[in-house]
Amino acid sequence: MLDGDFFRRWLTTAASAVDREADRLTELDSAIGDADHGANLRRGFAAVTEALDGSDATAPGALLALAGRQLISKVGGASGPLYGTLLRTTGKTLGDAGEVSREELAQALRAGVDAVAKLGGAAPGDKTMLDALIPAVDALPASFEAARDAADKGAEATIPLQARKGRASYLGERSIGHQDPGATSSALLFTALAEAAG
Ligand code: ADP
Ligand code: MG
Ligand code: MG
Repeated sequence: MLDGDFFRRWLTTAASAVDREADRLTELDSAIGDADHGANLRRGFAAVTEALDGSDATAPGALLALAGRQLISKVGGASGPLYGTLLRTTGKTLGDAGEVSREELAQALRAGVDAVAKLGGAAPGDKTMLDALIPAVDALPASFEAARDAADKGAEATIPLQARKGRASYLGERSIGHQDPGATSSALLFTALAEAAG
C-alpha cells in the first residue's frame, strides 16, 4: 500500500527531476513554444516542495491536492493549470484514505487525466502532455515500471506529430520533428513515481 510518505517521496523526487531537467525542457519548448516550460515547472515544483515542508498532511489525497493548488497558483503557463488540475483531481478522487493501492492510484490518476483533457480540450495525438499521461495511466495497473516506460514511449512518439493544441499548434507543420515539452515533463513524473516506489 502507498502511504503519505510515499506520496511525499514521489512529489519531492519529481521536483528534483524537474529541477535537474529544466534546461532540457526549456530547450524543447524553445523549438516549438516560448522557451519557458523548464522555468515554469521549476518554479511550480519548488513551491510544491515548500508547501509540503510546511504541511503536516499525511493523507495521499490531501498531499496531491496541496501540490496541485501550488502548481495552479504559481505557474503562469498552460502547464500550471493543467498539471495542477491533474494532481488536484487525482487527490480529490483518492479522498481521505491514509493508504491507497497502486490500482486505486491508477483509477484516481485516470480521473485526473480526464480532467486535464476536459480543461485543455486536447485529444490523444494532439502532441500534448496527454500523449504521455494516457499510456502511462493505462499501464500503471501492471506496474510502476510499465507506466514509466509507457510515458517515455508516449513522449518520444510525439516527435512526428503535428501539434493541435497549445502554443506549438501556431507553428502548424513546423511543429513536426520535435518532442513535446509537456509530454517530456509528464514522463519525468512517471520516472519519479517508479523511483519513489523502488
Ligand atoms: P505555455 O505554452 O503557456 O508557455 P508551458 O510551456 O509551461 O506553457 O507548457 C507547454 C506544454 O503544455 C505543451 O508542451 C503541452 O504538452 C502542454 N499543453 C499546452 N496546451 C495544452 C492543452 N490544451 N491540453 C493539454 N496539454 C497542453
Ligand atoms: Mg512555454
Ligand atoms: Mg509561456
